[in-house]
Amino acid sequence: MSLPEFPVEGGCVCGAVRYRLKASPLAVYNCHCKDCQRSTGGAFQMTMPVRRGDIELIAGKLAAYVVTADSGRQIAQMSCPTCHTRIWNEPQAAIELIMVRAGTLDDMSWAVPVGNVWADRKQPWVTIDPALVNFAGQAPSREPLYAAWSALTAKSR
Ligand SMILES: [Zn+2]
Ligand SMILES: [Zn+2]
Repeated sequence: MSLPEFPVEGGCVCGAVRYRLKASPLAVYNCHCKDCQRSTGGAFQMTMPVRRGDIELIAGKLAAYVVTADSGRQIAQMSCPTCHTRIWNEPQAAIELIMVRAGTLDDMSWAVPVGNVWADRKQPWVTIDPALVNFAGQAPSREPLYAAWSALTAKSR
């Protein structure tokens, strides 16, 4: 797995919202919670925690919808007001981070998940690799996920 040359870009389905990611995310992992299943329409969401200073909106505007996650935490889900693609989440418990949805990247081929959260809510047909960094519920700390991402991306350098 090799990282792209940053910056890279991503955006919404209609093209109104565009963002630039200036550095590697801190990790990429899957969340199997019910909110992620509903809001993606899939079995899990692929999320990338990014330092707030490493991402910028370069076109369009984002609209906020605040949800209370299964963890009890409040999260602002930011989406395109026109096509309603959810681009990223801004967790109020970690304002230094933006949780970007990996599928909004123009090229997400390098965004390989290193772990899973809310693994106990996964769908029965989803297979979780036991070698990854997995948590039954919310990760008590994201550090193990960050460490796994650093190890994975270091191999490519
Ligand atoms: Zn849009
Ligand atoms: Zn989730």
